[in-house]
Amino acid sequence: MNHKPKYICLLLMLSCVLSSVQADLQTDIQNIEEKMLDWRRHIHANPELSNREFKTAEMVAKHLTSLGMEVQTGIAHTGVVATLKGDHPGPLLALRADMDALPVTEETDIPFASKVTSTYRGETVGVMHACGHDTHVAILMAAAEVFAKNTDQLHGSLMFIFQPAEEGAPTGEEGGAELMLKEGLFKQQKPEAVFGLHVTSSLPSGAIGLRMGPAMAAVDSFELKVKGRQTHGSRPWSGVDPIVASAHIITSVQTIVSRQTDITKAPAVVSFGAIKGGIRNNIIPDEVTMVGTIRNFDMGIRADIHKQLEKITTTVADAHGAVADLRIDYGYPVTVNNPQLGETMRGALIEVFGERGIIDPGLITGAEDFSYFAEEVPGLYFFMGVTPKDQDHTTAPSNHSPLFYVEEAALLNGVKAFVQLVQDYPRS
Ligand SMILES: [Zn+2]
Ligand SMILES: [Zn+2]
Repeated sequence: MNHKPKYICLLLMLSCVLSSVQADLQTDIQNIEEKMLDWRRHIHANPELSNREFKTAEMVAKHLTSLGMEVQTGIAHTGVVATLKGDHPGPLLALRADMDALPVTEETDIPFASKVTSTYRGETVGVMHACGHDTHVAILMAAAEVFAKNTDQLHGSLMFIFQPAEEGAPTGEEGGAELMLKEGLFKQQKPEAVFGLHVTSSLPSGAIGLRMGPAMAAVDSFELKVKGRQTHGSRPWSGVDPIVASAHIITSVQTIVSRQTDITKAPAVVSFGAIKGGIRNNIIPDEVTMVGTIRNFDMGIRADIHKQLEKITTTVADAHGAVADLRIDYGYPVTVNNPQLGETMRGALIEVFGERGIIDPGLITGAEDFSYFAEEVPGLYFFMGVTPKDQDHTTAPSNHSPLFYVEEAALLNGVKAFVQLVQDYPRS
């Protein structure tokens, strides 16, 4: 009992030491802001398309090497990965940023707006970081530097993943998270968890969008050819009209979601985006081609929709004497936030953004290839608002718009969030 005062004194000293160490880390986070914004502006002014992120990757690799990390380059074409070992034992965690820009001609008037052009599908196009991946790269570079300076506070190791081609590899190429994993990224060392973030103009600065469980859709595309038999428009009975058959197919396909999918489980979308057939008013063509997109939040529903699409297109075409040829191209799977990991880490995000700063954005029918990482290990992915508070985030130009705008003051929160997530991750 009489040792109690001494004990309290010791505890006080210890907490003083701890908070001063924490203070160092916080100071390092504040001090990195200017550098981070310089990186972001440089990357923004020099955007590169998917699988062509050569200069961005070079910059990232140089930075990580300068921090004393062993750096692997050329993963999935241009991916860069480095691991940082903490001074204390603990788990391996992964932090991920995507690096690619889009074939969009920038229309903002920011001083470092992109003037870069490139070739996309044989056409000369403007290139812009219209999805904000420039900010993701800069945030993760900054987080890497903060952690590298504070390994004495790091329990375990960190894998920094700078990923190419999130927006999709060019036609005929593989890329992105899927290819990184295929090349064995998690085979050499498997992290216990993976974290990622995405800036969004649909939330105000200082807020984040976080949803547990399925958060973003699985996305597949399809191409459907309906083959008939060409004839004169005045004599339809002499041929097989693929246009009428296609009209019935399009109508019937609407029943997949409205009549055959249990929408109480999860929503789904099947949309046609293009239809092409024929050239002249009085010629019934040989063939009609259609393309479309399939989106859903449940892998069972996804498989069912594929089956139903195959069945409807084949049988309805057949009923009209035509032949359907359907090709489904698998896109990204559902992005699932591991509920247990989410619950564990929620406190870390509240620490940075406050309880009221965390918003459930609802299901998002867009897709993200972070989903592949989160299929391998528990993953947590959140959206970070970047629209100035005095503007209406509900009408702000969206990600992918030539007018997409990021309030830079919001970005340091990304570094804070990564640091907090790592610091608060359970150590045993
Ligand atoms: Zn995007
Ligand atoms: Zn994106």
